[in-house]
Amino acid sequence: VSLLRAPEGIDGEQFFQKHAGRLAIADIKHLDQALDPEHPPLMEIDTQKALVGAVQMGAVEFHTWGATIDRIERPDHIVFDLDPDPTLPWQRMLDATTFVLDILDQLQLYAFLKTSGGKGMHIVVPLGRFHDWDHAKAFARAVSQYACDQQPERLTATMGPKNRVGRIFIDYLRNQRGASTVAAYSVRARPGMPVSIPICPHELARLQSAAQWNVGNLGERLDRLDEDPWAGYANRQRITATMWRRLGASPSAGGS
Ligand code: ATP
Ligand code: MN
Repeated sequence: VSLLRAPEGIDGEQFFQKHAGRLAIADIKHLDQALDPEHPPLMEIDTQKALVGAVQMGAVEFHTWGATIDRIERPDHIVFDLDPDPTLPWQRMLDATTFVLDILDQLQLYAFLKTSGGKGMHIVVPLGRFHDWDHAKAFARAVSQYACDQQPERLTATMGPKNRVGRIFIDYLRNQRGASTVAAYSVRARPGMPVSIPICPHELARLQSAAQWNVGNLGERLDRLDEDPWAGYANRQRITATMWRRLGASPSAGGS
C-alpha cells in the first residue's frame, strides 16, 4: 500500500508515501527490503488496527499495487484508468466506459467498475496469478490500443495532455510493477472528500460524476445497496492466445 497523507487536513500539504517512513504506524507491516532495494521498506496493511493507525497518522487515501505480497511478481488484476480532457462532458466518460466494457466482454473477460472519486472511471479486470508484470501490462496496452484504434477521435492510448485534447486517455500504465491505483472505497483528499466507489454497469446511466459519492453520502448508498456491485469478483481469469489474436496483438518477448 502507498498512503496519501494530509496531516494538516486536505487543504494543507499532502505527502504521497510509498515507503515506510520515520512515523511509526501501529501494526503496519514492513515488507522485505529486497523488493525495492534502493528505498526503505514497502508497506502492507492487512488489519483494521493498521488501517486505523495509518488514519491516525493523517492518511486519507490508500493506493495499492496490482499484486499482493504472497505472489508479488504475479499481478492479480489489471486496471484501465480512464482520464478525460477535463473540458469534455461527463457523457463522454460514460460512453468510453461502456465501450471498453464491451471490448472486454467480447474478449470474455469479467470486469468491474469503480468511480475514481476524481474525474474518471477505473475498470478492473481480475486475473488469476498466471502472468508476470510484463505480460499483464502488454495485454492492458493492447486492449487500450485496440479501443483507441476504433475511436481515434474520442480515445487515446498515448500519455500527455496534448494527445488528450478532446479525448479520453485510457491509461494502462498502472499495470506495471510498483505502480498503484487508489483502492475501492478509499476516500480522496480532494474538495468534498469524494470516495472511489464500486458500481454496477447498469448504474452507469444514472451516474452523474466520478465524485458523486463522498464521505457525506456514502452511508446512504451503502444502506440502499441490495447487492455488492463487485459480487462474483474472483481472481481466476487468464489471458489467452485467443484474446491476443482478437486484439491483433502479441505479447512482447520475455513475458510469460
Ligand atoms: P482521476 O479520476 O482524477 O484521474 P485517479 O485516482 O485516477 O483520479 P490520480 O489521483 O491522479 O488519478 O492518481 C495518480 C496515480 O499516481 C495513481 O496511480 C496514484 O496511485 C499515483 N500517485 C499519486 N500521487 C503520487 C505521487 N506523488 N507519486 C507517485 N505516484 C503517485
Ligand atoms: Mn485517473
